[in-house]
Amino acid sequence: MNSENMRAESPSTAFSTTPAHESELSAAQTKQPEPAILEAVHLRKYFPLRQFKLLGAPEVVHAVEDTSLALYPAHALALVGESGSGKTTVARLLARLYDPTAGTILFRGKPVNTGKVASLRSYRHHVQLIFQDPFSSLNPVHDVRYHLSRPLRLHGYAHNRNHERELILALLNRVSLSPAEQFIQKYPHQLSGGQRQRVAIARALAARPEVLLADEPVSMLDVSIRLDILNLLLGLKNEHQLALLFITHDIASARYFAEDTLVMYAGQTVEGGPSEDVIQSPKHPYTQLLISAAPDPDRIGTDEQGTAGRPERGEIPSLIHPPTGCCFHPRCPHAMPVCRERFPGRTDLGGGHWTNCFLYGSGDDHSSATSLTDNKTTHTIVPREPKQASQADVQQKEEATPEHN
Ligand code: SF4
Repeated sequence: MNSENMRAESPSTAFSTTPAHESELSAAQTKQPEPAILEAVHLRKYFPLRQFKLLGAPEVVHAVEDTSLALYPAHALALVGESGSGKTTVARLLARLYDPTAGTILFRGKPVNTGKVASLRSYRHHVQLIFQDPFSSLNPVHDVRYHLSRPLRLHGYAHNRNHERELILALLNRVSLSPAEQFIQKYPHQLSGGQRQRVAIARALAARPEVLLADEPVSMLDVSIRLDILNLLLGLKNEHQLALLFITHDIASARYFAEDTLVMYAGQTVEGGPSEDVIQSPKHPYTQLLISAAPDPDRIGTDEQGTAGRPERGEIPSLIHPPTGCCFHPRCPHAMPVCRERFPGRTDLGGGHWTNCFLYGSGDDHSSATSLTDNKTTHTIVPREPKQASQADVQQKEEATPEHN
């Protein structure tokens, strides 16, 4: 029997097929939102090009432009966009693998000091990144024990070798790799893609973090395994009150896995708010494009807007010489002259839903239009009700969504 199939699904990681109890809902709705654990405030990241240039300033890749977000305990925020939209760079900035060109990262309200090694170690104790590719994130010459023992030793959790082994076995059981004794001595090449990603998740959990940054955690896995891994992440989020950043190019999955959704295009955030509102009632033409490209059986026959006026897929623009004004204007069927001149300010649409588009209130008088250097606009999201998704919903979604690799 395949060892992946031997894994028993932990009850705590399975989706509830029962709707949340009404009394629980009303209690949660009256609960005051907790303070954000991790915040990004006006983050920018420019990568200088390696080129020999005698005259003029060196060119840069504008990977992230003025992005702000906030992560809350036991809440998931989906960061959605096409490849090249800057979402992975945001995750790496938050993980402090990159230093921001501008902007601030706040952990529990305090600016993160990027300079000291000790402070970096302490930060990584709280904030862990799960990489997209489970085939390259594990060192092929080391076994599972080695990969999990390192963070345990680094953060001082293992008192001796016996204790270390106990903690490793507990971690393997926690990510449903059982019997754990069989997996502890395996090398990455002896594991399936799903099992490797579980080891990567166990390694992240070994640091006992408060924030998990999951960078397309299932996009390189077989469709049949994706649901298990996403179930696991959701179970961990709820059980450990983790703040979860879920990076994905599949906007439809965000509705089922995240309370809030933030849409990125060409390094800029263009729409955000409760996932239900953003996905069921998208306002920004780019969000509408993403949704129209994602198969969704729920939407069949309910799309009042149809496809008329929806942008063609087109290409993501150059990030070395990004378009002026709204970066989406070369692809947008609604583009106006002002869209080429200025970046639209944020328009609040109610209920925490907002967008940056001149179609919604800032196109006529330009009163809320801002340039990219205006530092007054924030995209902080207030946490919503914790997500409850049914297994039937998710399975339906997985069947309808094609593989993206
Ligand atoms: Fe289209 Fe203009 Fe809105 Fe940009 S600001 S999405 S170009 S209408």
